[in-house]
Amino acid sequence: MTDVLTRSRNGEVACTAHAPPRGSLRWQVEGWQAIPAADLTPGDECLQCVLAPSVRRGDFDAVAADLRRVASRSHSPLTVINQYIESLPLPILVADQAGNYVGANFEAYALTGFSRKELLNCSVADLTPPADLSDEERLWKAFVRSDGQSGVYTLRCKDGRTLRVRYDAFTNIADGFHISFLTAPAPAS
Ligand SMILES: [Zn+2]
Repeated sequence: MTDVLTRSRNGEVACTAHAPPRGSLRWQVEGWQAIPAADLTPGDECLQCVLAPSVRRGDFDAVAADLRRVASRSHSPLTVINQYIESLPLPILVADQAGNYVGANFEAYALTGFSRKELLNCSVADLTPPADLSDEERLWKAFVRSDGQSGVYTLRCKDGRTLRVRYDAFTNIADGFHISFLTAPAPAS
């Protein structure tokens, strides 16, 4: 396997299949360049290729570990995290310390009904049903002090509909940024 790896100015590494098309506007704007063989280090690998199998297994510990590793190598961690989660096949939300959403992917927009622009103007409270709001602030403060949490919670969509979702959340995926992977809750037995 001698696929050429490329690196963006932000430090994102991708194989040719997962990098933007060579010469495209995105390729130019993001400053992609092939990594010369002599500059390859053991940690250089296409994260899309690495992440997808972990996502399919539901191994969010592995996904979070990989995202942490790549974010720690970038001077623009949030940009890199958002690039990586964009095409992952499940809803993912990224929030800052205050609970404002600063990242999400296509699946998250589809699930909640919010556009990208709308979701990035929302906070955790905006996606919480009014009845749960009294607890929300306390729970969020406890969450950001923890390593992470998983469980089932109620998500309020743009049209007011509520959904029960399972979340696997990890704090400080990059300093001050917290990520949640959303899946369908296991049916009650
Ligand atoms: Zn790849």
